[in-house]
Amino acid sequence: MKNILITGGAGFIGSHLVRHFVLKYPNYSIINLDLLSYAGDLSRLDSITDKKNYNFINGDINDFQLLNELFRKYKIDSVINLAAESHVDNSIKNPTKFAETNIMGTLNLLNVSNKFWKDPINKIFYHISTDEVYGELGEKGLFKETSRYNPKSPYSASKASSDHLTKSFFYTFNLPIIISNCSNNYGPDQHSEKLIPLTINKILNNQKIPIYGDGKNIRDWIFVKDHVDAIDKIFHNGKIGETYNVGGNNELTNLELVKKIIEITDSKLGRTTGTSQDLISFVEDRKGHDYRYAIDNTKINKDLNWYPKTIFKEGLDHTINSYIENFNNNNNIVNLKK
Ligand code: NAD
Repeated sequence: MKNILITGGAGFIGSHLVRHFVLKYPNYSIINLDLLSYAGDLSRLDSITDKKNYNFINGDINDFQLLNELFRKYKIDSVINLAAESHVDNSIKNPTKFAETNIMGTLNLLNVSNKFWKDPINKIFYHISTDEVYGELGEKGLFKETSRYNPKSPYSASKASSDHLTKSFFYTFNLPIIISNCSNNYGPDQHSEKLIPLTINKILNNQKIPIYGDGKNIRDWIFVKDHVDAIDKIFHNGKIGETYNVGGNNELTNLELVKKIIEITDSKLGRTTGTSQDLISFVEDRKGHDYRYAIDNTKINKDLNWYPKTIFKEGLDHTINSYIENFNNNNNIVNLKK
């Protein structure tokens, strides 16, 4: 039996995680705390809302009193913190919001956990973070858990700060923390502002597909369900005080990725191969745009026997199908090839 507070559970990764825990562990009580910002959407959780081991709370991780009430009422013994502002472009427009949510919100959660958990046995504060905290790589090399933090955007700087605060609570207060730093996730139900859903929606609407700079920036892509499996393993078997890097072993330039999406989507729509290539439109590069991210999975492979399982082409195919289905459900019918 565990009483787990999952924050940001109405977001993209959080909703996949909440569903996974609610269904796989019926004896765990899952409390999903989410502010329902523009990025949160409860319909992602329609399939589990009536489950007995699931509760949704609409609230802010910055609300100290609310957290106290939740810890008391639900006897919270575990926190998995995903609540965040997560879009780099937004962090360039409004860095303060990112500091408030990602830094101060995490600090508030740490303070309350530390207040309630006098005995650290069977407790865990698991902070979900990103590989972007390490900054950027050149052509070669991989991010290891020991790589130097060197964040370049207000988003990654706010996540780096929250990682440091989380670690500091381990060293200073003996709070039982774990951190994982994951690469770019893709899958169904991601917000339309992110590259993969944005590209699919542009193709479906026959609109220009914006690509930053020359499209040569490289990202490592992991299917969201593989990330959720990694979180499950780390939550249950990870060592307290440790950091685990999580990656998909799947590096692509943004341009390669967009071309693959075009190829698959055009084929599903019955358009001649490559028709939508003409939609590609190179736009002014993002400020401080990191060149390359790539993860060394050795530690999580060896210590926890976790490996990403999803073949990229299959994950992408599944993802594209889900966005086409959403598009059609919103009455924007596209004709699919029979
Ligand atoms: P998301 O933007 O889809 O979801 C974030 C959720 O947090 C939303 O439901 C939002 O309503 C909620 N939220 C925002 N502010 C809140 C607050 N003050 N209190 C409570 N809830 C709040 O993000 P995501 O892509 O699902 O990412 C989840 C976590 O994983 C983030 O911490 C992010 O940094 C991390 N991460 C994401 C990726 C990725 O590729 N998406 C990769 C590595 C790590």
